[in-house]
Amino acid sequence: MSQTVRTRPEGSARPLSEGYDTALLDLDGVVYAGGSAIAHAVESLGAARAGGMHLAYVTNNALRTPDAVAAHLTELGIPAEASDVITSAQAVARLIGEQVPAGARVLVVGGEGLRVALRERGLVPVESADDDPVAVVQGYGGPELPWGRFAEACYAIARGLPWFASNTDLTIPGARGIAPGNGAAVEVVRIATGAEPEVAGKPLPPMHRETILRTGAERPLVVGDRLDTDIEGAFNGEVDSLLVLTGVTDGAQLLAAPSHQRPTYVDADLRGLLTGQPDVAAAGDGFRCGGWTATAGKDRLELEGDGEALDGLRALCAAAWTAAGEGSCELDGAKALARLGL
Ligand SMILES: [Mg+2]
Repeated sequence: MSQTVRTRPEGSARPLSEGYDTALLDLDGVVYAGGSAIAHAVESLGAARAGGMHLAYVTNNALRTPDAVAAHLTELGIPAEASDVITSAQAVARLIGEQVPAGARVLVVGGEGLRVALRERGLVPVESADDDPVAVVQGYGGPELPWGRFAEACYAIARGLPWFASNTDLTIPGARGIAPGNGAAVEVVRIATGAEPEVAGKPLPPMHRETILRTGAERPLVVGDRLDTDIEGAFNGEVDSLLVLTGVTDGAQLLAAPSHQRPTYVDADLRGLLTGQPDVAAAGDGFRCGGWTATAGKDRLELEGDGEALDGLRALCAAAWTAAGEGSCELDGAKALARLGL
């Protein structure tokens, strides 16, 4: 893959599950939401796996251990082993292990997932700045993380210790609304210390490297619902990606995506793994996909034809991304998206 500017979604004559050896699946908004499986996820993943595709689950959430995530997936009807789960806790633990001596103590501001990952790399998690740590690591600690742990991090960082963060997702969506995520907790320490952490999670390279090292994927497909983590992480890792619309990204955000956040493929949900992808072709001064033709007008995106809504969206992506070049399309796509019911 090259880092040239993507101006349209790609087609694929073969089902994606046959064209790629491993799916690197994001969890929230892709496989499950609020604890329940997303529609079509269980059957689609079962069929992809039966067809020989290796499935791996890649999460920025550092709180839960791979064992706990695998147990949750299995309970939902998606059989998974701990070794199929890659977390930002594992990625940050490897990063720290490369920079400190074996057996070093690391001050943990976070949860069990982080402690387990540090021990796996031969490091010793400690709880206080006075326990002789050589580094500080911060990951999502859940609602029970005491405020005093941020103070410990600040004391240690003020003594000159390097500071690492598993990820910087600002929010955690839950059943009752949006809660502060690890990125918000990192801001607390950043404001108090003026220091900058080294970050491992998506979309940064340490997370992608961890994923490839653990899965051995040779031709991976990143599958995600977020442009600024999953899809940008795939771009940074120079691998192909599938955006599914079951999570946080809507049609308008996709049309406005700058070049480093444009997915290779777009589909409604994980059934997209089992099918080919239609071609988007230049047609006159616009782009055609299925029965739809999209063009970039002066102020807005125009759409003509009929057929599958997803084909209309793919044609609109081509018109918007081509008009925008590397940047973010500013043409109004609301009317065209409304016509597609997206
Ligand atoms: Mg997600």
